[in-house]
This record gives sequence, structure tokens and C-alpha cells, in this order.
Amino acid sequence: MSELKLLIDKLYRTSHLEKEEYTAVITHYTELSEYLFSLSSRVREASYGKDVYLRGLIEFTSCCKNDCLYCGIRRSNKNAQRYRLSKEQIINCCENGYALGFRTFVLQGGEDMHYTDDIICDIIKSIKSLYPDCAVTLSIGEKSRESYQRYFDSGADRFLLRHETANEAHYARLHPENMSLSNRKNCLFTLKNIGFQTGAGFMVGSPYQTEENLAEDMLFLEQLKPEMVGIGPFIPHKETPFGAMQSGTAELTLFMLGLTRLALPTVLLPATTALGTIHPYGRELALKAGANVIMPNLSPSDKRSKYSLYDNKIYDGDESAQNLSSLKKRIESAGYHAVMSRGDHIDFTKEK
Ligand code: SAM
Repeated sequence: MSELKLLIDKLYRTSHLEKEEYTAVITHYTELSEYLFSLSSRVREASYGKDVYLRGLIEFTSCCKNDCLYCGIRRSNKNAQRYRLSKEQIINCCENGYALGFRTFVLQGGEDMHYTDDIICDIIKSIKSLYPDCAVTLSIGEKSRESYQRYFDSGADRFLLRHETANEAHYARLHPENMSLSNRKNCLFTLKNIGFQTGAGFMVGSPYQTEENLAEDMLFLEQLKPEMVGIGPFIPHKETPFGAMQSGTAELTLFMLGLTRLALPTVLLPATTALGTIHPYGRELALKAGANVIMPNLSPSDKRSKYSLYDNKIYDGDESAQNLSSLKKRIESAGYHAVMSRGDHIDFTKEK
């Protein structure tokens, strides 16, 4: 067996590689993918069987105070279409989602100061009192410990906050000066410490990213041990400074999913919308690489096109929560089981 395959074996056995070892396998990913996926799919089955957890995604605001250079809803994009959902509209999405069978609602949005902590807590409490058997996941950016604690005390179960890149210099090329990797990482450790099922993650193929940067992402995941990891390709948005940059590839994204499954055997790993956007079978391929979560869109249909993070983002067809039966068929024909229950991380199944 080649030396590089032995490194994949080492990751399979120990869930750890050194930085140079990660860099070496990432650099040679094309020749290792098949072997990696044979192991990563085995690990995912040992942890969660063939189950694929479905979550209802509610993109509740396209307003954002931040100016991340890659993101279509960045503050400086004067052509972005801005909207905000009222509490009633969000609850209405949950009502539709509950009737479809969803038992997790993911509330994602830009960092929008209109939604004060009081408003967010009120929304969480209302959802939890109407649907006590459901999990609420938040993805609303960087906040203080006090704010995170209030959301948790109001009943939120999970929080997604991709670290985006674990390398300081790379982070600085993707973000404006007022944002820092150290704050983002601190937020993630705080979320874990409070007791959230916590999600980190990164884009693959983001501008200026190197194989070493991706190796650093893997080491950060090993250190943080998040319960969830969101990994998707970078896709340019024409109204951003990175509008003319290349997208990340589906192949390298799948490889990073496979590595993540070996590094964190019990992680909840979404097959992301971005992967489905750049590849017609991106979702199915992600499941074969070790992913086990899909988050169909539950936002009001007239708002979906406005949550435009990158060009050509998919939001109808099998991406739509309303087309659930078609998505379920795709999952089943790929050899997996679509599961509508809360789908907590294994370590949290007996809590709450
Ligand atoms: N504001 C919250 C936050 O910062 O976590 C959540 C919303 S943010 C738009 C959600 C994710 O979209 C980001 O973590 C980023 O990885 C992803 N994203 C933004 N622009 C993207 C792009 N051009 N290509 C791929 N993913 C992108």
C-alpha cells in the first residue's frame, strides 16, 4: 500500500494526522478519494447507519452588518435584496415544516441587529412551546457569551458558526479588518462550553486557500471537536470583490468531507446546498463520502431567491422542503434512509 494510503489508514485508526500528513493527503486527493470514501462511509455507518437527517432551513433575514468579502449578502452589496421575516412568518414556516414532518428547524440569517436578543429569545421560546418535540438550531453569527447563554436558556439546542478558515492570514484576506479569527474561534469554544451542539466549518476553494490551510482546518476541528461541521465549496457572487474568482471543486469538497468523517467519527455532517449547486449529484456523492444531514429550504418561496450568498444558489426542486417526497426518493435510491426525527448528535441523544 502506498505511503499516502497508510496515512488515510492512520486517520481511520486514530482520528488524527499531523499537519504535514494532512497537507500531503490533501495535495494528492485525486488518487486517494476512492480509498478514503471506502473507509469514511464505513465509519459513518458504524455511528449512524444509513440514516440521513433532514432539517428544515429557515433563512429569516438577508440583512447583515458584516462585510465578508465572499458573501452575496455583505453589507456593501447595494444590489442585494434585503428582507426580514417577522416572528409570525417564522412560526408559519415551522408550522408548515412540522406538518411535513420536520423535527429540527434551523434559523439562519445575516448578523442583523434588528433581531435583538429579546426578539430572538421570544422566537425560540415560541417555537419550543408550540413544538416541544423539535430541536432549534441557530446560525446567526458572532455574539457575546451572555447572548449565547440567553439563547440556550430559552431552549435553543444547536448553533452553527463556520470558522471559515483556521489560518489567521487567510482569514484576514477573506474578511474586513474589524473581524478576527480569534473572536470567531472564541465564540465556538464558548458555544461548546455553554452546552450547545456546536457546528464549525469552512469553504473549500475559497480565494487564496492553500492545501496547508485546509490541513489547519482539520487540526482546528480535531481541537474543537464540534458536533456538526458544515463544509461546502466557495462559489463566487458577482456583486462581491471575489466575483471573478474560481469556485471550489466538488471533488476536493467531497474529499474534505471524507477526512472530516474520519477525524470526527460521530460528527453530523451536512451535504450542503453549495455542493448541490455546483454538482447535480453533489448531495448523493456527499452521502457516499460520509455526510449524513440534508437541510431543505423551508423559507417562504417568495424570499428564497433573495438569500443569495453566491451565484446560481439552488432553492427550488429537491432543495425545497415542499418537494420532500422527491428528495426522500433520491436519498433512498442512493441507498440511504431519510429520517425526520430530531437527529441529535450521539452524545446528546439522552439529554434535553
Ligand atoms: N451570519 C451567520 C454566520 O456568519 O455564521 C450565518 C449566515 S452566513 C451567510 C452562512 C455561511 O454561508 C457562511 O458561514 C459561509 O461559509 C457561507 N457562504 C457565504 N458566502 C459564500 C460563498 N460565496 N460561497 C460559499 N459559501 C458561502
